[in-house]
Amino acid sequence: MKKCILDLTNSQFKTMVKSLIKQDYKINQIIEWVYAKKTASFEDFTNISKELRGELDKRFLLRTLKIAKKEHSIIDGTIKYTFQTIDKKYFFAVFLLAKGKNSICISSQIGCPVACSFCSSGKVKLARNLSRGEIIEQILQVENDTKEKVSGVLFMGMGEPTLNFNSVTSVLNSLLSSKEFGIGKRHITLSSVGNVPAIKKLADDNFGIRLALSLHAVDENIRKKLIPNSFGFSIEDILNAGKYYLKKTKSRLTIEYILVKAINDSVADAHKLARLLRQRNLLNPDVQINLIPFNPVKDTQFKTPGQESTQKFKNILNLNGITVNIRQAKGADIGAACGQLGY
Ligand code: SF4
Repeated sequence: MKKCILDLTNSQFKTMVKSLIKQDYKINQIIEWVYAKKTASFEDFTNISKELRGELDKRFLLRTLKIAKKEHSIIDGTIKYTFQTIDKKYFFAVFLLAKGKNSICISSQIGCPVACSFCSSGKVKLARNLSRGEIIEQILQVENDTKEKVSGVLFMGMGEPTLNFNSVTSVLNSLLSSKEFGIGKRHITLSSVGNVPAIKKLADDNFGIRLALSLHAVDENIRKKLIPNSFGFSIEDILNAGKYYLKKTKSRLTIEYILVKAINDSVADAHKLARLLRQRNLLNPDVQINLIPFNPVKDTQFKTPGQESTQKFKNILNLNGITVNIRQAKGADIGAACGQLGY
């Protein structure tokens, strides 16, 4: 079976074509067509000889995913893509339109073993990890399809990215490389529910990207209810890992907190959240809290809190000196908002 070029790092690709292409500059031209020019067909590699294009076509694929479905939000222009893999599995990516600052929320797994009770992806049994190429291809296909440039990447789609660590970090190298995507490290955010060793490794590898910690609760029992398979680390362990990440990378730390009515949205919860951050010296401008009012999904009893209680929760955090952003649901009308990516 042919290998997809996107599944190979540049040095792996170079090794594979060593016998076919002697000159380094030619290999670099191919890499430029693949990543910088985002070309989907070998035929279009116009500065490469016809013969070599034919050889590449015999040995490699440039795309493996099909766009199975595309849904447009009439509210905010968000586009939800359902991709079909070669082995006929389905997963999602979401294109978030914002003049000059378009971003994409990408998936790292098909299904998600973390099984958050507020999330549609969590209701899909893990089928497998996405390959390096399948992760990268989401960006290439969406850019080709929309004719828009993506300048921000969020690893917040289907799956827990730290469980697909090798592929995800290989993709990070490509996103950050000026010869490939050339996306600034401050424009890439990876979220995790708290895989502490992976967060530390990510900090030590010093990609410098932004980390979003999905905390979602200040009480261990409530957290367990919201995130059943959260690696067994305590809230304290997770916040300490966030602190370690911040110190090592000098990046920004976002704490994600989904607000579910009468579950984790009380005044006492807000005070406790502020206290937890204060106790760890996390009350500083590089730490921000994203409040995400629960987005309705199928088969759940959870409810979205009213605007008033959301605002009250935010005010308490603000009064404690914390920067808080209430995340506006994007693409809620097409099931593309946070927690809605399921079948
Ligand atoms: S919120 Fe994230 S970690 Fe939790 S089930 Fe959904 S995709 Fe998985």
